[in-house]
Amino acid sequence: MSKMSNMIKFDEALEIVLSSAIRRMSGEDISLTQANGRILDKDIASDMDIPPFDKSAMDGYACRALDLDALDDTGGPPLKLIETIPAGYKPQKAVGRGECSKIMTGAMVPEGADCVVIVEHTQEENGLVRVIKKEGPPNISPQAEDLRAGDIVLHRGTRITPAEIAVLASVGCDPVPVVRRPVVGVLATGSELVEPFRKPNSVQIRNSNSYQLCAQVERAGCLPRYFGIAEDTPESIDRMLKEALQEADVILLSGGVSMGDFDFVPGILRQNSVELKFEKVAVKPGKPTVFGVRGDKYFFGLPGNPVSTFVLFEILVRPLLFRLMGSFDRRIRVKAKLKGALKRKKFDRMDIVPVHLDADGLAERIEYHGSAHINAYVKADGIIALAIGVGEIKAGTEVIVILI
Ligand code: AMP
Ligand code: MG
Repeated sequence: MSKMSNMIKFDEALEIVLSSAIRRMSGEDISLTQANGRILDKDIASDMDIPPFDKSAMDGYACRALDLDALDDTGGPPLKLIETIPAGYKPQKAVGRGECSKIMTGAMVPEGADCVVIVEHTQEENGLVRVIKKEGPPNISPQAEDLRAGDIVLHRGTRITPAEIAVLASVGCDPVPVVRRPVVGVLATGSELVEPFRKPNSVQIRNSNSYQLCAQVERAGCLPRYFGIAEDTPESIDRMLKEALQEADVILLSGGVSMGDFDFVPGILRQNSVELKFEKVAVKPGKPTVFGVRGDKYFFGLPGNPVSTFVLFEILVRPLLFRLMGSFDRRIRVKAKLKGALKRKKFDRMDIVPVHLDADGLAERIEYHGSAHINAYVKADGIIALAIGVGEIKAGTEVIVILI
């Protein structure tokens, strides 16, 4: 492919990226306390019924519903209290006719009882219990109401979040079988760049992309590994790329992919036997995005402008990372009405626009002056995509916002 190679549509680019991901990371077992954010490597079955026994849902008195039907207006005849059942205690006595056992939330319902009257609806005196209000029962969570032993509770490929942590804990899954995290190498290119802790001179700027990309990699549940800044020379980029190849599964380079005299990245990738699958995508920002494959390693050359780097990671790199982990990038999409119109003169590319969701749920475009203006993304709740051929979206139109 030459520098003049054809531009492809974003959907095609995404399809190429995803279908290139032949490899799936292997698995490892880790402690439940470390599992948040990881991807499950196996289906997980419950090792027991949940609840494991008929469980009282309230603090109250376990008794027979038939006895309640027989009560008069004063709550009599009172039920005879035969036992107190705390949570974690096995009831010793079966509840017979005219009897009850005091029971706590989470405790096992005794034999014979088929309902629990909540404590607020009762009066207890001298071992006798009057039921002054009969509404509410049965207040029993039956055994296996939530899950049966052997039921699959979580599927392979699921991303573990706090709710999954609770489920894993309740079915006794510790250690947890998870997918290894891809190591994602991050390289900056640009002779104008200095690290954040340094004060740039009059012709330099700070390297923000690498730190942002590492944070995005981490947010995607993968392991970032930063290799530094390469000068805009073929030798410098080549050296750093070879170093990254030793360790990383996926390599992200930023800068050096456009038409300038010092944009060496695509050439260096090719020189290192990377097969470039595309070199231009019809997306704004981010047109000169490069993607390549060598064996089971994947390479992205992202345009250096910070907004391009940010956006292309979210819409193209992240889906690959999830695919490598045997999962998919489940982003939340919300429908919102557009506040103010969106207009553009050229519509030969898909345009990614950052939006803020206001308190009324309206999506408001965040103004930004060019793809260097990463500050705009600080205010963004999500992005919307203007498809090729769409020149205007009128105010009030329903749009789909992808939350980021
Ligand atoms: P390039 O893609 O190399 O032509 O860079 C495009 C623009 O992005 C230039 O203004 C660069 O100075 C800027 N840029 C490139 N790399 C970075 C980086 N790592 N951090 C911040 N800005 C960058
Ligand atoms: Mg550059």
